[in-house]
Amino acid sequence: MSEDGTPLDEGFTPELIEAARRTFAGPVAFLKSAPSLKFLPDPDVPEVAFAGRSNVGKSSLLNALTGRNALARTSNTPGRTQELNFFDVAGNGEAPAFRLVDMPGYGFAKAPKDVVRTWRYLVNDYLRGRDVLKRVLVLIDSRHGIKDVDREILGMLDKAAVSYRLILTKADKVKATDLADVMARTAEDARKRPAAHPDILATSSEGGLGIPELRAAVLEAIG
Ligand code: GDP
Repeated sequence: MSEDGTPLDEGFTPELIEAARRTFAGPVAFLKSAPSLKFLPDPDVPEVAFAGRSNVGKSSLLNALTGRNALARTSNTPGRTQELNFFDVAGNGEAPAFRLVDMPGYGFAKAPKDVVRTWRYLVNDYLRGRDVLKRVLVLIDSRHGIKDVDREILGMLDKAAVSYRLILTKADKVKATDLADVMARTAEDARKRPAAHPDILATSSEGGLGIPELRAAVLEAIG
């Protein structure tokens, strides 16, 4: 990590990393669950959403990001209610108040058709009509890279022209050379996608790798 104020590899300055650390050390609170659009909170603050295949490590990453043990609950039941979960981040002098949005996981091997349909409608409606949504962070398992099940949401994001960034999870589970490989492959894919941020961030909720940068990526997204 650079100590002289020059940008880090990921393009984040030490100042932004520190501002992001302080922001997430402040209050973060569950606001509400929205099973359909009429339950969405008023669009009065910026939002950054997290999406990913079920079991990709989304709950663990949200907990690591916010330094809370049980902010986001693990939920691996295929028939489970599909909903968007909203969390208020208080902000401070360095960052305005904003919201984190935990989007419903996708890609259950045995998901009933109506669950898939509900997911598709909810996510599509949210993505297309939400002006305050600044960016979606799409989580990809470091062991697998982008899978076919991820392509649907990437396509939806490109079509809705919602800015998104690919984040690799569980980086501690792969060797350094394999991580470099999957990062390069994922970046190559991202560069071909119109709404994707060209840079990939590797994270681990276990070891803490990339968590300060992920916090900075959230702050950067809300501008
Ligand atoms: P979700 O379904 O996307 O919310 O995924 P979870 O956060 O529940 O994680 C799924 C499984 O992966 C759990 O067994 C976690 O303990 C494990 N896991 C999540 N993140 C990491 C990580 O960074 N490293 C390792 N080694 N395991 C992880």
